[in-house]
Amino acid sequence: MPQPLPLQTFTDVACTVCGCVCDDLRIVVEGERIISADGACELARPWFLGQSSQADSAPEVDGVSSTWNAAYDRAVAILKSARAPLIYGLSRSTTEGQRAAVALADFLGATIDTTASTGHAPSIVALQQVGESTCTLGEVKQRADLVIFWGSDPVTTHPRHLERYCPPDATLVVIDSSETATAKRAEIFVKVPVANNWDALWTLRMLVKGIACEAAPDWRALAERLKACRFGVVFFGSGLTQGRLAHRTIEALLQLVTDLNDHTDPETRRRFYARRMRRYGDVAGADSVLTWQTGYPFGVNFAAGYPRYNPGEFTAPELLARGEVDAAVVLGAETTHDLPPDAQTTLRNVPVILLDAPTGKLPFVPAVRFPTAVYGIHRPGTAYRLDEVAIPLKVLLPTSCPSDADVLTTLHERVKPTL
Ligand code: SF4
Repeated sequence: MPQPLPLQTFTDVACTVCGCVCDDLRIVVEGERIISADGACELARPWFLGQSSQADSAPEVDGVSSTWNAAYDRAVAILKSARAPLIYGLSRSTTEGQRAAVALADFLGATIDTTASTGHAPSIVALQQVGESTCTLGEVKQRADLVIFWGSDPVTTHPRHLERYCPPDATLVVIDSSETATAKRAEIFVKVPVANNWDALWTLRMLVKGIACEAAPDWRALAERLKACRFGVVFFGSGLTQGRLAHRTIEALLQLVTDLNDHTDPETRRRFYARRMRRYGDVAGADSVLTWQTGYPFGVNFAAGYPRYNPGEFTAPELLARGEVDAAVVLGAETTHDLPPDAQTTLRNVPVILLDAPTGKLPFVPAVRFPTAVYGIHRPGTAYRLDEVAIPLKVLLPTSCPSDADVLTTLHERVKPTL
């Protein structure tokens, strides 16, 4: 009679499937399998239950199973011959992997970029221009009486965000181009086409400041709500980050928040904040690590021997679309799905070294594929929640696969010239 496998229960487990990084999950492991994930939402549950110890995972060279040594040799040859390498992804990694990626990029004279380039890059450019007023999700949960989602639909993309971080008695407002799942739960829904967001924000700025202007009744009523709240927050997402001048739209939003925090009026007791809804589990960490290591949050080029930053010039979608990359190191295949078609074409035509869990789906055949451990499943680490709060990750399952930090460090060691 087979012996029952031992059960292990882990509490306060963090989930990195989306930027909420919920850290209250209860995971039960039987042998080397996760059999239950209490607290996981519909996005997270299949992800946790699909994890394994990655037994028998081996690297691949040109799609064929290989030894680790042969894979490292091929990857090192690619990196040594590359004149314009790109390191991209990083938002499914952790602080440890991101630091190793920056060190390798620095040594190679490469460009390093994160998935912010296909997401909140315009928001980062905007906050560099006009600043931002921020708070933690804990402060929102404890104090907010007005919560606005503008161009974001957390019920679909961050399913536990409302439950975990929004007070149930706060007024919920959704501003979006269509009636999303979150809009259906909102007390106030204002429909605005993506192309009109900038006008809507400037209209609100004028109404909040008491400047006479033409405005629809919906916007006048919303401006009164904004002025009447004690603690308001706007969570904004991809509906505001689209288009060539998206950074101007987000500047207007951040300036509206600054207007609402104008305390030259002693009667004002209001506090207002804006927070980005981040997609991946540690994209906020990627911004942070790149900033403290290079001075810049994304799109950093080391070709001159020092870090240079220029969105559009050194960001992966544009670099790849222009064909200015001759080799790529990708951390997390999933992150390449959001790249524009021209960029994906280049990725199919240059040698790619991919670091990812063995199950990741691929839009291209990498020259070298290293199966890596998953942080928060097989390796400890630190991920940053969408409000930049650092969350520790636990080990739930064993694996023989190295972490991406291990692989990058080994590549760095091997690519260095021997004296
Ligand atoms: S909301 Fe996001 S972080 Fe929380 S359990 Fe769901 S996928 Fe994971």
